[in-house]
Amino acid sequence: MTSRKKVVPTAVFSPAELEQFRQRLLAERQRIEDSLKSSRDNLANRGQRENIEETGSEDFIHSVDLSVMATSSESLRLIDEALENIRLGTYGICRDCGKRIGIERLEFRPYARYCITCKSAREANGTSHLHG
Ligand SMILES: [Zn+2]
Repeated sequence: MTSRKKVVPTAVFSPAELEQFRQRLLAERQRIEDSLKSSRDNLANRGQRENIEETGSEDFIHSVDLSVMATSSESLRLIDEALENIRLGTYGICRDCGKRIGIERLEFRPYARYCITCKSAREANGTSHLHG
């Protein structure tokens, strides 16, 4: 351990806690990548069937898949960001107010970027993203 002084925000987790979050983030990342892959496969399969099947709800399903893929891509981005924050030692700090995000919230959503207070404020303002 170093005795060098540096500005460390109040949001500091123990190495063991950080490792737990890191493992969860990696697992979540894997899960999303798997579902993205199957969505891509579905789209590819439908593309091949296109000429032999009458399409009814296909467009709708197609757009659902695309939105799932968009949501998943956004989640992957947030997960990568969270993993980077773990490396930087800024994990679990609210982007808006700089306070520590509640551990209960992080356990529920390990890639949360805002504390529940700021998240609620953003939702009230209509500036909320799907995740965060
Ligand atoms: Zn906040």
